[in-house]
Amino acid sequence: MTKAAGKIVICGAGIAGIAAAYQLAVVQGLDDVTLVEAGNPLSLTSDKSTEAYRNWWPGPDWAMTAFMDRSIDLIEEIARATGNRINLNRRGYLFATADATKIAFLSEMAQLAESRGAGALRFHDTPSSGYVPSPERGFDSALNGADVITDRSLIRRYFPYLAPGTVAVAHARRAGWLSAQQLGSVMLEAARERGVKLVRGRIVGIGVNDRVRGVTVERDGERRSLETTHLVLAAGPMQKEMARMAGLDLPIFAERHHKVSFADTEGVPRSAPMMIWLDAQYLPWNDDERAALDADEEARWLLQEFPAGVHGRPDGAHATLLLFNHHGDVVEPEFPLPEPPPHYGEIALRGMSTMVPGLRSYVGKPFRPYVDGGYYVKTRENRPLIGPAPVEGLYVSCGYSGFGVMASCAGGELIARHIAGAPLPDYASAFVLSRYQDPEYISLLDRWGDGGQL
Ligand SMILES: Cc1cc2nc3c(=O)[nH]c(=O)nc-3n(C[C@H](O)[C@H](O)[C@H](O)COP(=O)(O)OP(=O)(O)OC[C@H]3O[C@@H](n4cnc5c(N)ncnc54)[C@H](O)[C@@H]3O)c2cc1C
Repeated sequence: MTKAAGKIVICGAGIAGIAAAYQLAVVQGLDDVTLVEAGNPLSLTSDKSTEAYRNWWPGPDWAMTAFMDRSIDLIEEIARATGNRINLNRRGYLFATADATKIAFLSEMAQLAESRGAGALRFHDTPSSGYVPSPERGFDSALNGADVITDRSLIRRYFPYLAPGTVAVAHARRAGWLSAQQLGSVMLEAARERGVKLVRGRIVGIGVNDRVRGVTVERDGERRSLETTHLVLAAGPMQKEMARMAGLDLPIFAERHHKVSFADTEGVPRSAPMMIWLDAQYLPWNDDERAALDADEEARWLLQEFPAGVHGRPDGAHATLLLFNHHGDVVEPEFPLPEPPPHYGEIALRGMSTMVPGLRSYVGKPFRPYVDGGYYVKTRENRPLIGPAPVEGLYVSCGYSGFGVMASCAGGELIARHIAGAPLPDYASAFVLSRYQDPEYISLLDRWGDGGQL
C-alpha cells in the first residue's frame, strides 16, 4: 500500500467532507489534511435530513446494497465506540400499500433486495405467522432482510395505526435513523484531534496546470492561497460550480426537497418505524373543502392526484417529521433556500394521514409546521460519484442525493482509500466518474428504473 505524502485539501465540511477527513487522518493516518468550509460545518444540507438509513436497495445490482451495508457497519462501529452518542436505532423502514395489485410488486422488490444481498426475506400470509417486531431502541438486532406481511390481521395487530385498508407491508430491517449532527461531530472531533485543520472561507479558485496545485480561499474580502497535492471536492449543492473551476463538467443536477417537523402527540406513535406509503393518492378533503378548492382556480391543483412516496417518522418524544416529494424539479441551487411549494406542510400532513389516519386529528386545527429543506445532488441513475477525476490530484465525493447521511461513512472510506492507494472494495468501480465512459454502462442506464428509491 502506498501512502499519499501530500497536502490534502477537502472543499466542504458537510457530512461527506468530514467523513473523508476522518477516514484520511484517523483511519489512513495521513498527516496533512485541511477542511475548507465557507459556512459552519454540517449546516448547509447535512442538518436538513430525515437522518434515516437503510440497506434496502432493490436494484439494479448489488453495488448500492454492499456500499450501504459497509456504511452501516461503520456507523454501528461509531455507535459502539461512543456508547451510542449518535442515537442509532434499528426500527426499520415500513413500506405499505392499500392497493392489492401492488402486492406482487412489493414482493418482487423484496425478492430483488434479497438477491442483492440485503438479507433474507420472510413472508407472512397467515394470522399465526411468526413476525417479530423491531425493538424501539438500540441497534444490535440480528434481524436483517425484510418481512412481507399480507395477512391483514397481522398488519392490524402490529401496526394498528396504519390505514385500515392497508393490504400489505414490507418491513426492511437493517434500517432506522440516527443523529446526523452527532455522527458528523464525532468524526470531526476525532479528525481534529488527529491534526486535521479547519479553515473558514470559500474556495474561489482552483490552481491547475498539469495537475492540481492549490486553491484560493476567500474570507471577509481577503484572499489566501493553499498549496495542495490532492483536492477533494465535497461541496454538496455547489459541487457542479466547484468542478467547473477545475475545468470539469460533472454529470450531476440538483433537486430541491423540503421536510416538515411538527409537534405531534396524537398521530404517529412514538415507537413507529420509518413509514412510506407506496400509493399515489388524492389528498383527503371533506366535501366543503373540496367544493371551495374546486371553485378556486389557484388552489384547484390540490384536488389532483399526488404521487406515491409520502413518508414520515416520529422524532423524539413530541415531534414527527414528514416528507412528500411531490415537487422535486431540477433547479439551480440558490441560498437562502426559496420558499417551499405553497401549502407544503398541509399537503404533507394530509398526504401522510392517508397512511396514518390518526394524523387527521390535526386537520382544521392550528397546525404550525416548521418547514426546512435543501438540495438532493444526483446523478441520472441516483448513485454517488466517489473517486478520482480526470485532472491529476483532483477527487470528487458527491451525488449523495437523499442518502448522504447513511452513505457518508463508506463514502469517506472510499475516497480516502483512493487517495491513500489502499485496496479498494468491490463496489468502488460502480461509483467512479469514469463509469460514464463505458458505452455498455450508458446503454444499461437507459433500462434502469429508480429501484424504489426515496
Ligand atoms: C429534505 C432532505 C431529507 C434528507 N433525508 C435524508 C435521510 O433520511 N437520510 C440520508 O442519508 N440522507 C438524507 N438526505 C440527504 C443528505 O442530507 C445529503 O445527501 C447530505 O447531507 C449531503 O452532504 P454533503 O456533505 O455532500 O453536502 P452539504 O452538507 O451541503 O455540505 C457541503 C459543504 O460544502 C461547503 N462548500 C460549498 N462550496 C464551498 C466552497 N467553494 N468553499 C468552501 N466550502 C464550500 C458548504 O458550505 C457545505 O457546508 C436528505 C436531504 C434533504 C434535503
